[in-house]
Amino acid sequence: MSPKQFILVLLLLIPLTSTHAMMYEIIDHCDRAPGGNKYANELSIYYKASVLSGATEQVLNTFCQIEGEGKKYDTVTLQIESFTQSPDTVASTKDNVIRMNADYLRHYQGDIKKEFAGVVYHEMTHVWQWTGNGTAPTGLINGIADYMRLKGGYAPKGWPRKGSGSRWDEGYAVTAYFLDYCDGLEPGFVAKLNALMKDSYSDAFFVDLLGKFVHRLWRDYKLAHGSEEDYPKPYARTLPSDYHVPWKADDVPKSNAYLKYLQYYIHYMF
Ligand SMILES: [Zn+2]
Repeated sequence: MSPKQFILVLLLLIPLTSTHAMMYEIIDHCDRAPGGNKYANELSIYYKASVLSGATEQVLNTFCQIEGEGKKYDTVTLQIESFTQSPDTVASTKDNVIRMNADYLRHYQGDIKKEFAGVVYHEMTHVWQWTGNGTAPTGLINGIADYMRLKGGYAPKGWPRKGSGSRWDEGYAVTAYFLDYCDGLEPGFVAKLNALMKDSYSDAFFVDLLGKFVHRLWRDYKLAHGSEEDYPKPYARTLPSDYHVPWKADDVPKSNAYLKYLQYYIHYMF
């Protein structure tokens, strides 16, 4: 598609901190596509820009990232276009470019402003978060993104209720509510977990930050919300396989997280 077909390109300089400014580029490819951009009346360019800015601010504040610590982007681009190759996908993000499916916006029934903001908060998290160099569970990555959506006040009505789900890393809302529980145990937990995930990922980060196995935390969370009905009972009965040490036997202990994990491992095994 030629750049001449963009109906809207907006460059905004919005101060993020006293020493840093973010630039947002918003490109809608769908003004001349069949169906046009029927959402334009409700989603003004100013609304979209303010949501992008608010999302960045919330993500960086939640991650407690100061300048120079996180990723070095000074621009985030939002492209709205038809996802002809994957029509069921709502949005996707690569580096600092968020792509949103125009067809999803066209057909959305309900509060489109809230839904747009929720999707942006989720995708904006992917722009800034660490993924352990791609080793973190996908469910955790998307859980952190939906945690940001939850904390922004954009959880949609269709989400599963708090306490539901069968695995801590099931992803999206299930993991988001679990992370919210963990953050309640240790304020700043999500920020610290994200910081630990800069270079690699290990379940032992939960032990390091909260002093418990993630499976134990998940069980506590399920019990706290009275939802034993879908609690995966094998967790309580298969001690050796659930509490395996996720390092090879010849690994050299590398961190306090490893040592704490080993301590817990020995405690539960003997
Ligand atoms: Zn995602």
